[in-house]
Amino acid sequence: MKYYSLKHQSPDVDFREATISGQAPDGGLYFPRSVNSLNTDFIHNLKHTSDEAICYEVIRHYVGTCIPDQVLKDIVAETIDFPIPLTQVNDHIFSLELFHGPTLAFKDVGARFMSRCLGYFARSTNREVTVLVATSGDTGGAVASGFAGVPGVNVVILYPSGKVSKVQEQQLTTFGGNVKALEVKGNFDDCQQMVKKAFLDEALKAKLFLTSANSINVARWLPQQFYYFLALKQWREAAPPVICVPSGNFGNICAGMLAFRSGLPVSHFIAACNANDTVPHFMQTGKYEARKAVATISNAMDVGDPSNFIRILELFHDAKPDLHEILTSVSVTDEKTKEVIRQVYQQYQYLLDPHGAVAYAALDSYHSENPERKGIILETAHPIKFLDVVEPIIGSNIPVPESIRHIMDKPRHSTVISNHYEALQQELLQL
Ligand SMILES: *Cc1c(COP(=O)(O)O)cnc(C)c1O
Repeated sequence: MKYYSLKHQSPDVDFREATISGQAPDGGLYFPRSVNSLNTDFIHNLKHTSDEAICYEVIRHYVGTCIPDQVLKDIVAETIDFPIPLTQVNDHIFSLELFHGPTLAFKDVGARFMSRCLGYFARSTNREVTVLVATSGDTGGAVASGFAGVPGVNVVILYPSGKVSKVQEQQLTTFGGNVKALEVKGNFDDCQQMVKKAFLDEALKAKLFLTSANSINVARWLPQQFYYFLALKQWREAAPPVICVPSGNFGNICAGMLAFRSGLPVSHFIAACNANDTVPHFMQTGKYEARKAVATISNAMDVGDPSNFIRILELFHDAKPDLHEILTSVSVTDEKTKEVIRQVYQQYQYLLDPHGAVAYAALDSYHSENPERKGIILETAHPIKFLDVVEPIIGSNIPVPESIRHIMDKPRHSTVISNHYEALQQELLQL
């Protein structure tokens, strides 16, 4: 399998090279030359196929010969070694719970897959790799957890000061060792810009073997297809579901749409955004206008210029089906998000986190216009990660899951830096 740059100024590369370099030399995102085409027997037999076998079948097309079969099978098994249940919330909405992994967020899936692939590639080349990542909250924790203690890999995480939750900050800053946390005096877009610059900095690249772990990396983006298939495996309704994805950088929903292109039955996708409405605005007007990110209570989606949206455009560039037939994108206010958390908790005793609540609001309103269609929201994080938002709304405490209790009191280690590229460059040159 070859990958090309969406800027079309760089040579094609294989999965290994795309994983290691993250971004093409021309600054473009990598995109597979061909989309997997899964046969209908495979799709019809999801219910009778093991999770590992499903995910292996979904990914092997994209990995090609870069990783031996048995190694890839082991990587897949480790990637999904926690439950991903589909829970019914009411008669028309189901929740795909993606928060049962080590950092209680869906990003564990992509981060675990990528860290293991990169570990394999580093071992086979004997070269120390530095993973550089900007996070709006959850990426960093998942990446830190995925890579912590992996020999031959250093991790540098940039996060916007004061814009991540307490649990998220603990998850970013308490590993130490090969994981370095940089607290940037700016917003997520600043962090992302700084990281993008580092990847184009030749002087830096001469010294460090740099790679990204953001959702633009194919090794994080592609395995996110897994749980769309696992959702359909658990789907018992007659018609294919509407799938509603709380979206920020659009990697998650783009993976779902790739799964759809590969044969997964889905009747419609909804990209649910918070006040950062660049894509809803584009879908309405046809104009893509990157904006400055604004802070919301669903902070992992505070992205004004979503990197992965261009991959969705590429997936549907042949206009069959037309993007509008398969994708709706809406913006949900913080006020509505809070109202949904309260209402769903009272009415169905189901506790949503702010990101899942944005998706719920969007799917519920789509359902009132399309009452015959049932759907799935991707519940991308455990509500405990946003207890400062959720607890006052429901008026009670959320029990702390065992898996994070132990990190809450650990001392934090982070370095505060300005939002200028030079500050990052200096930190990296000192590694
Ligand atoms: C990252 C994140 C999102 C947004 O996912 P994208 O792939 O960036 O669209 C949504 N919810 C949570 C909890 C996240 O951490």
